[in-house]
Amino acid sequence: MLRTFSEPSRRTFLLRIVTPIFLTAMVLSIAASTLLLWATYEVDRASDQRQRSLVVLVLSQLRAGIAHDQEGVAVWDDALTAAMNGDTEWIDVNLGRWMQTYFGHDGAYVLDPRNNPIYAFPKVEARSPHFQQLMARTMPLAAKLRERLRGGDTTGLSDRVLTLGVADFVVVSGRPAVVSVKPIVSDTGDIPQAPGNEFLHVAVRYLDDSFITELKQDYLLDNLRFSWLDNASATEISSPLTSSRGETIGYFVWQPYRPGTTLLSRVAPVMVVVFLVAMTMMALLVSALRRRSLKLIESEATVRHLAHHDQLTDLPNRGLFNDRLDGALKSLAQSGETIAVLYLDLDRFKEVNDTFGHPSGDALLRDFAHRIREIVGERDTIARIGGDEFTILLRAVHSRAKVEAVCRRIVEAARHPYPIAGTQVFVGVSIGVAMAPQDGVERVELTRRADVALYHCKRAGRSDFAIYVPEMDASSNARRDLERDLRTALDADGQILVHYQPLYSTAVGRITGVEALVRWRHPERGWVPPDTFVPLAEETGLIGRLGAKVLREACETAAGWPVESLAVNVSAIELRNPNYAMQVTNVLLATGFNPRRLELEVTESALAERESGRDRNIAALRELGVRFALDDFGTGFSSLGRLHELEVDRIKIDRSFVQGFGTANGDEAIVQAIVDLARATGLKTTAEGVETASQSDYLRHIGCDDLQGFLLSRPLPRQEVEALLRAQPDEPRVAATRSAHS
Ligand code: C2E
Ligand code: MG
Ligand code: MG
Repeated sequence: MLRTFSEPSRRTFLLRIVTPIFLTAMVLSIAASTLLLWATYEVDRASDQRQRSLVVLVLSQLRAGIAHDQEGVAVWDDALTAAMNGDTEWIDVNLGRWMQTYFGHDGAYVLDPRNNPIYAFPKVEARSPHFQQLMARTMPLAAKLRERLRGGDTTGLSDRVLTLGVADFVVVSGRPAVVSVKPIVSDTGDIPQAPGNEFLHVAVRYLDDSFITELKQDYLLDNLRFSWLDNASATEISSPLTSSRGETIGYFVWQPYRPGTTLLSRVAPVMVVVFLVAMTMMALLVSALRRRSLKLIESEATVRHLAHHDQLTDLPNRGLFNDRLDGALKSLAQSGETIAVLYLDLDRFKEVNDTFGHPSGDALLRDFAHRIREIVGERDTIARIGGDEFTILLRAVHSRAKVEAVCRRIVEAARHPYPIAGTQVFVGVSIGVAMAPQDGVERVELTRRADVALYHCKRAGRSDFAIYVPEMDASSNARRDLERDLRTALDADGQILVHYQPLYSTAVGRITGVEALVRWRHPERGWVPPDTFVPLAEETGLIGRLGAKVLREACETAAGWPVESLAVNVSAIELRNPNYAMQVTNVLLATGFNPRRLELEVTESALAERESGRDRNIAALRELGVRFALDDFGTGFSSLGRLHELEVDRIKIDRSFVQGFGTANGDEAIVQAIVDLARATGLKTTAEGVETASQSDYLRHIGCDDLQGFLLSRPLPRQEVEALLRAQPDEPRVAATRSAHS
């Protein structure tokens, strides 16, 4: 039986498991990426800041450095002397050219105390616009310096900074530049100058071309350039070049080194791979989880279904039926409806199982379940509660007539042949019905009553239905008690006994046989008649055990008796069991009883219909030499004309005929006809129930072979029969022989 899991369980899985897992994964990866990007940004920002500071520092160091360079030549007696003497040649060598060669300054000028240039390097036309502009830029610086010198300002002077100086970033002829002005003073102090009226040394360093190249190399600033406007692109940063008056002259622009971005660009591919691997693993994990969980859901559903259903027919089982019945009974008061509980039991199902095997029995049960499904309604419940037992809950039953109609249809449907093992098998169904609320509103009681009705139906002849009436209860209780006691008796010692009734041969006038008759000595009830408990054993399936017990006991007991035959009664049900012949053979072998001395008594009804299992048993046993007798002849269906069809060796004329002798019925004539016909057919005859001498005389007279009855002997326990046999007047005509089997 295959169960599939439903759409909602898929959705539940998606909602409960997949969504949270993926959401968590997404949130985590977004958080991780954000953190990484943020860290990258922060690291880059710090690095940018550092590089900007670096550029500012480099520029301010440049400015200080130029001033320091100047001091190397401007604090020098020789220089002052040369300036005073207008020795431009000396100045050119020591204050101009040398400064360029050694310090890389782009220009050097010397101004006299009235700010007139007395020397210029490189050589330049004094009236050229370039020089004019240079001078224009220098003058404010020179004026400022002279003012400080005049004022005796000493701020900034130290061991390293010997003289005051003024420097600034300016634009000269469209080029950014540092212009630094320093006084030329005596290093010994021997050549005095009036403060403010010193010769001044002016140094110029342009901030493009070579400076940019140096900066690039020294500080690894990629693509560094100077721009008048702050036009840094997205990948560039800039640092402004600001004059001492706070005017922005232009910008140094470069592509900053960004450690964060570099790291990210290295780490990102690895992270993407890691992320993808993690996602794939997670997807695999989730899919495995999904498969497992779906399997779990599936098996849960199957287990739930199995717990409530019968595997063979897929019908609800007893548990589910009880639940539904409880539900229906609970709502009975409000709904006001009437419900019916049907108990169904297949007739002769056990025989089908025994004859054709369990797979065929299963097929029949499935077929039957299918047939009743067609009959009952959607709201009704059919359940299989045991081997061949079913229950039906009919809801909203409006009338008893409706229940009867349903029952009739079921009985009718069950009666149709079942195609099994290549043949047509006939079984029937018996149904017991109880209705709520009239028969009770409590489940246990209601179902019990349906069961009682079923039992009555079975007793009344099966393949029908019976609706519960209270009178059914008393008899079924008694029967149940008896059944229970019979089971106990079969297991106990000394309750089930065998008595033997002698059979007298009319020809030799002695006991030539005995019939074994079962007895039940109930510990409380005393002797229970076989007519009561044998049919009970047949109904309850105990007959097999009972028959076997009697057969074994009788064979053991009579093996050594000087009688020709031992008669043992066999029930029709035993005879239908496919193993019966085998069981009898085993008993014969075990007890060493000669099969030729055994006569099995069967009733007419047991032979009424042709039946393959029974016929095979009879044939097999006859093969061994076992004989058969037709018991209680005349009470059943058999006509005298059919006698030759039946495979028996003896007819036992029922005692009702013998006891009818001397009445107006003319039973003598019938008995004579039976005896004559039997002899003509080659069958022996026994007359049962011979109670009077006249009956005995008449039967001898008409040629009946054997007589059995109270006149001759009652059924007796073993010892009494043995005493009787010992007391026989003459030697037996045929000595008892042990079986050749032994
Ligand atoms: P049955 O096989 O016809 O057995 C003869 C019955 O007639 C016995 O009844 C016996 O006691 C009774 N009987 C014998 N002579 C007279 C007589 O002169 N007058 C009267 N009124 N009755 C007489 P019992 O022992 O009560 O057995 C009843 C039936 O139970 C048997 O009828 C037989 O069909 C069945 N039975 C007995 N033992 C077994 C058994 O071991 N297996 C099976 N399957 N059936 C058995
Ligand atoms: Mg008998
Ligand atoms: Mg009889």
